[in-house]
Parts: sequence; structure tokens; C-alpha cells
Amino acid sequence: MTADDTRTAADDTRATGGDDGPVLRLESVRKTFGRDRVVLRDVSLDVAPHTVTALIGASGSGKSTLLRCANLLEEIDDGAIFLDGEEITDPRADPDAVRRRIGVVFQSYNLFPHMTVLQNITLAPRRVLGVSREEAEARARELLGRLGLGDKAGEYPDRLSGGQQQRAAIVRALAVRPRLLLLDEITAALDPELVGEVLSVVRDLKADGMTMVLATHEMGFAREVADQVCFLDNGVVLERGTPQEVFGNPRQERTRRFLRRIV
Ligand code: ADP
Ligand code: MG
Repeated sequence: MTADDTRTAADDTRATGGDDGPVLRLESVRKTFGRDRVVLRDVSLDVAPHTVTALIGASGSGKSTLLRCANLLEEIDDGAIFLDGEEITDPRADPDAVRRRIGVVFQSYNLFPHMTVLQNITLAPRRVLGVSREEAEARARELLGRLGLGDKAGEYPDRLSGGQQQRAAIVRALAVRPRLLLLDEITAALDPELVGEVLSVVRDLKADGMTMVLATHEMGFAREVADQVCFLDNGVVLERGTPQEVFGNPRQERTRRFLRRIV
């Protein structure tokens, strides 16, 4: 990736009102499923521009739900979520317009199997943003090249390794020039030898200034790449801090127990 995207991100920031405020803000978010299953309770979180936030915590602690709420795939019960200072959980907000500004990559690379890599990547820019085919393809090829997939544009997903598919999914998420990237355990379904190439892409995106929130079980990686680490326990942000604070000197016994178990 080049400075080009960083500059675009900075321009976007100016256009939407300042580089000071958080890109994403959760204020006392509560999410329940059914009548009494509380999955997120009073979750507050700020994600500063050009930073990486790692969500860690046991399976079922609410990481995916948090990311899905941020992308309006789930409706929250209480609290508010802001993107660049604008409340996206306001009933008057347009969910499609919000999702255009947020790129998402899930655990299982869900590329459309009947489309080539290039078609997968250019679909949203063409359909949603109304970008011309030529422009969408040029941007896609440029991103593919940067993520080491320059020769895969014409392939179908099942001809790619898991790591390549996941990198293509990241390219697809980047194709709409999102303000924020949400990554949900993007290495969890990969064979161990393929994890490194995907993490290395995240590292490069961070170097370019992309704002990211990622749920991960890769503690070493979270420690290395994150500016902020949030430990979720049963829907509560039990501990939040720099990697040094959370990994090096956890304040909560539950955090210590979790880290002992997983590291
Ligand atoms: P994590 O990503 O940390 O593993 P999740 O956010 O996926 O956790 O899940 C948190 C809790 O919410 C789990 O107990 C899960 O069973 C529950 N949950 C998630 N989605 C739903 C749903 N659609 N309906 C009911 N319960 C759900
Ligand atoms: Mg999850």
C-alpha cells in the first residue's frame, strides 16, 4: 500500500469534520438476544483515527456481536454508536450509507464462489458506489498487486489457498475505500502456515494509517499491532489499555486467567 490511501483517509476526515474525534465510538451499548440473553452490557469504546483496536476474550464473550453492532448488522437495545461523530444508531441514519464507510472481513472468507476474484472485488464499487467498470477494475488490480495477488484477478475463489482467499476478501473490503475496517477472527479458519501472510497484510494496512478493529485469538499479534486492547468477558469490557498494560500487567484476575489459558 502507498501513501495514496493514507492521504485519501485524511481528506475524508477533513470532509467529515476533523481528525480529533474518534472514528468509532460506542456509548453504553447494550445488546440482548431474545428476552433475557444479555450479550453486550454497557460497552463503551473509542477508536481513534489510524489506530488498531484488538478485541480479545473467550469464545462467546461478545466480540463478533460488538463488530456486528458497529456495522449495523445487529440492532442495539440501548446506548449509541457514532461513526466520525455521527450517530449511526439514530433511527434516521441510512444503514446502507453507513456500511459503505465500513469494510468488514469475517472468519470464513465469504467470497462469492461463482465470481472471479476481480468480479468479487468490483461488485460493491460498481453497484453501490456507481464507479465505472474501468475505474473499479483499475483500483481492484492495484490493490490485488499490493496484497500479493496480482496474478489472481481472473481466478475463481476455490482455486486460491485459504490465505489468498482471505487476502482477496480484505481487498474486497478495501475496494470501497472504507473509513474503518472491522476484522472478525480473519485467521481463525486458516491452516497455521497461512496465518502469517494474512497478519502481514494487517500490519501493512496499519502502517498506511487504516483504522481497524479486530477480534482475534492471536495474542502475540494483538500485542504487536494493537494500540488498544479490550478484554471482553461475558459482554463487558473488563479491561482496556495498551498491549503493555493488558498483556504485561493485567489488573483483573479474570484477564490474568484468560491470558494464562490462551498464551
Ligand atoms: P464471540 O465472537 O466473542 O465468540 P459472539 O458475539 O459470537 O461472541 O457471541 C456472544 C454471545 O451471544 C454468545 O453467547 C452467543 O451464543 C450469543 N449470540 C450471538 N448471536 C446470537 C443470535 N443471533 N441469537 C442468540 N444468541 C446469539
Ligand atoms: Mg466471534
